[in-house]
Amino acid sequence: MESILIKTTAKNLIYRVNHWKNKLTDQKNKLLILLYHRVLPEVRFNSRNTVITEKTFIRQIDILRKRYPIISLTDAINQCHTGQAKAKVQVVLTFDDGYWDNYEVAFPILRERGLPATFFLTTDYVGKNEPVWDWEVFTLVMRDCTDTHSIEIENKLLEQRMHEPRLSFAVRVIDSMKSITVDKIQEVTGFLRKHSTNKLTDIRQDCGISWEQAKRMSVCGMEIGAHGVTHRSLSRLPLEEAKQEIDRSKSIIENQIGKPCVHFAFPFGGHNDCAYGLIDHFKKTGFQSCLLNIRGYNHVKQDSFYFKRIVTNEWSSLDHLLG
Ligand SMILES: [Zn+2]
Repeated sequence: MESILIKTTAKNLIYRVNHWKNKLTDQKNKLLILLYHRVLPEVRFNSRNTVITEKTFIRQIDILRKRYPIISLTDAINQCHTGQAKAKVQVVLTFDDGYWDNYEVAFPILRERGLPATFFLTTDYVGKNEPVWDWEVFTLVMRDCTDTHSIEIENKLLEQRMHEPRLSFAVRVIDSMKSITVDKIQEVTGFLRKHSTNKLTDIRQDCGISWEQAKRMSVCGMEIGAHGVTHRSLSRLPLEEAKQEIDRSKSIIENQIGKPCVHFAFPFGGHNDCAYGLIDHFKKTGFQSCLLNIRGYNHVKQDSFYFKRIVTNEWSSLDHLLG
């Protein structure tokens, strides 16, 4: 926990310098898209730094909404189409993966304040009694299988190197699983479950929301976007499989929610995970935006198929959030 705090403090300092540099040099209107994953009443396990406490979430959005309009993603895209920004700085809130707490914790806070947000769902995990695979694998490697130092993934043995930090090993495990088949993912997860020393862990605490809950959020004005079917890296999948992930997640959401699904967030979302070659396919199939997990802010005159986002965490300062 301490090393995360030190790293985050150092990063915040860099962000602060960058923020003021951007503020002085960039006179264009800013569109900030924040990326959240989970909001929980208390944080017990946060190795990936993707969980923030309910208290911090409230503090962050209350500061932001006092200073800037918080708008929906569709509103932001409409402004992109006209090229006319409605304010100098505008904020969009997004949530990836669709954990239960998005509905139970974040949604009531947003609704109470009348704030819109977009929730990107991984369709295979909606209403399933299982967390998204990479969350589970990460939790098992980092917390519950610390005696396991080698894992077979697609007939290759991945070993924790001498003196390699567990975090780096866990990241390598996830990375080598990003494009393997769903069956193979289940094989690795099954192996890790078998070697888990923490039999008390109730992994169901990390499950996704239900379609019923997603529908209720949509009825209350929240937008539901697609995040693929199986949460694998689209750029590393065979082309047809990647297209299926896009098309199927869109149609499943549309059937369940009863509204067009026009926003997509790339699973993992780094440069190596975004299938830039499929942007035309996204356009043809009726999407209006693609969101990356690459840090930066946007302008309303920008292409909405390459929207950058700012990942928030428990220690994000306002300058960090403002890009
Ligand atoms: Zn994701």
